[in-house]
Amino acid sequence: MNKKESLRLQNVEESSTLAMAALAREYKSKGIDVISLSLGEPDFKTPQHICDGAKNAIDSGNYFSYPPVPGYLDLREAISEKFINENNLSYSPNEIIVSNGVKHSITNVMFSILNKGDEVIVFAPFWVSYSAIITLADGVPKYINTTIENDFKPTPSQLEEAISNKTKAVIFSSPCNPTGTVFTREDLEGYRDILEKHPEIIIISDEIYEHINFTDRHTSIGSLESMNGRTITMNGFSKAFAMTGWRLGYIGAPKSIAKSINKMQGQTTSANCSIAQRAGLVALKEGNKCALEMKGEYLKRRNLVYNHLIKIDKLKVNKPKGAFYFFPEINEYLGNHSKDGKKINSANDLALYLLEDAKVSLVPGEDFGAPNCIRLSYAASEKELIEATQRLELSLSKLT
Ligand code: PMP
Ligand code: GLU
Repeated sequence: MNKKESLRLQNVEESSTLAMAALAREYKSKGIDVISLSLGEPDFKTPQHICDGAKNAIDSGNYFSYPPVPGYLDLREAISEKFINENNLSYSPNEIIVSNGVKHSITNVMFSILNKGDEVIVFAPFWVSYSAIITLADGVPKYINTTIENDFKPTPSQLEEAISNKTKAVIFSSPCNPTGTVFTREDLEGYRDILEKHPEIIIISDEIYEHINFTDRHTSIGSLESMNGRTITMNGFSKAFAMTGWRLGYIGAPKSIAKSINKMQGQTTSANCSIAQRAGLVALKEGNKCALEMKGEYLKRRNLVYNHLIKIDKLKVNKPKGAFYFFPEINEYLGNHSKDGKKINSANDLALYLLEDAKVSLVPGEDFGAPNCIRLSYAASEKELIEATQRLELSLSKLT
């Protein structure tokens, strides 16, 4: 333990998605042929028209100064229009804050709304950073556990049971990282019926995978009657437009919360990178054609990987409806042994075994709140995916 580290930080672990990706990179740098299916990161290049938007912004010489704290007005206007046209959500430009990616948006939100001991209900499995960010902001994550049998969806009564007099907010992603679950309008109406009885609870909807939805129907919970004025909606450019490195995300929040987030952002990062913002504006103005093309590729890969994984007897696999992850259950491998006698006691053990034996990096489920699952990101080429699934099948078959 690092004694110089603050107690606050000692309470959270390093991000396991980033840690596995770093380990895979380390193996690769030693010349080991690792296929990395750990990081949830599009393998496409940012579309050219978006890159040109950034180049034009630099060449104009007009974007070298601090931008306004919540982001340029024209970008916030475009986001406001996107929310109305695509999601039936009404956030005015002064209810929008552009941040350094959705990870930063979540950080902004949690630090703006939580007091010590406030509970945030988290649908589990959840994206690893939710729990860490809530904890860093002195909040307490309260998990609702789900299983693969019900497509990882909490029932409305589970939500009701999780609510206490300390509940400040509820957070989930749809489509979901790590499960690929898409919450339908009917699912969300079920949650709405419960939340209507608790008007003080803030709903935080992470919609970063909106455009990677194979059901072709995305519903924003904030668009349901009575949810709009109390929902914070987050979205970003990383996944839809293959812009992870640009660090660009945004928040729509009711006015008083937006004001607090603005204060938080102003005192911590000032604003988001000016050039990234200009590129983001071009992405929104030019539309979703490029995002749809990438979605088509993800769908092919989803089907390809699914057809391989279902052949592996002991893996319990569902067919994810969105995002670019599989999250199979691995219970039947727990307690098994590898050839050299090592026992697989956890998803973490299994991920390390598969990295060593199959040379495929996955992320163990523990930090997603699902210690009996493992995550595979299929944001990789078809060639890599075919090779990786074959290697996985072989290595798993060696466990006894
Ligand atoms: N939310 C979810 C559900 C994610 O999977 C991620 C990781 N990409 C993020 C938020 C953060 O994304 P970014 O910071 O790149 O916008
Ligand atoms: N969100 C992606 C993932 O889950 C990127 C890594 C991260 O920020 O956690 O792999």
